[in-house]
Amino acid sequence: MRALFAIFGLWLAAAPSAAQTSAALILAEERMDRVRQLVEAGAMPRKALDDARDEVAEERDNAILRATLYARIELERMTPDRNRDMIAAAERQVNRRKAKLAEAEKLVELQARGRDTLDPLRADVARAEQVHELALGRARLFDELASMAAAENELDQPAGEPRDGTRIAERFAGEGAVPSAAKLRAVEAAFEKHFGQTLPVSARGATELHRSMGFDHTGRMDIGVKPDSKEGAWLRRLLETMRVPYLAFHGAVAGQSTAAHIHIGPPSNKIKRAD
Ligand SMILES: [Zn+2]
Repeated sequence: MRALFAIFGLWLAAAPSAAQTSAALILAEERMDRVRQLVEAGAMPRKALDDARDEVAEERDNAILRATLYARIELERMTPDRNRDMIAAAERQVNRRKAKLAEAEKLVELQARGRDTLDPLRADVARAEQVHELALGRARLFDELASMAAAENELDQPAGEPRDGTRIAERFAGEGAVPSAAKLRAVEAAFEKHFGQTLPVSARGATELHRSMGFDHTGRMDIGVKPDSKEGAWLRRLLETMRVPYLAFHGAVAGQSTAAHIHIGPPSNKIKRAD
């Protein structure tokens, strides 16, 4: 969990403020309009318009990253689409900056430009690559959540039966009902008191992700612990004592997202489609 928070910290440290990014996009668009007029009037070279277009594209990608990678939105509100947009925006920024560097290197070869002018462009590429890495890291966390949700979605089989020979769910029915908010708070407080760290909640209640998969996770809570770990075993004993229903999902294939977690509450309800 600590590594996860470290990543969150990095996102926030690297994040441009919301106001800056949108102001930058407006300025870039205004500049592009002015440049277009000048190019059409023959007062500026065509290349200037290409550069202005690049700047607008760069600021649009910054806006996408601001809404996904840098935003303080929780992973639970990410969707596969937003995830893809985020990665694509980060990739475009890397490619755009690499193209700029390559162009400058050609001018250096032609001795039309000093070699020392390449350093800031190389730094730009390195920064974009770092952002891309962050985006990939976040996407991996999202994949982990998605596989947890997928494991729950596949639960329409008898409890305890292996799925694909890899994933096993165990069910404790308890009192059956969706636990009250007060009960969930008590579970969180007890875990924190016992382990001296917060309960690693990966999904609290209904999330975009669960909804997109067609089920209603309202009142349920997913905890990112392996059911057989020290924390997992302790949590299960606590839930059993409190008669709170839970589902324990054991790991899946090594090297892939494990999807191991404990789902607190009865299984989710399927969302009834209007059609
Ligand atoms: Zn769940």
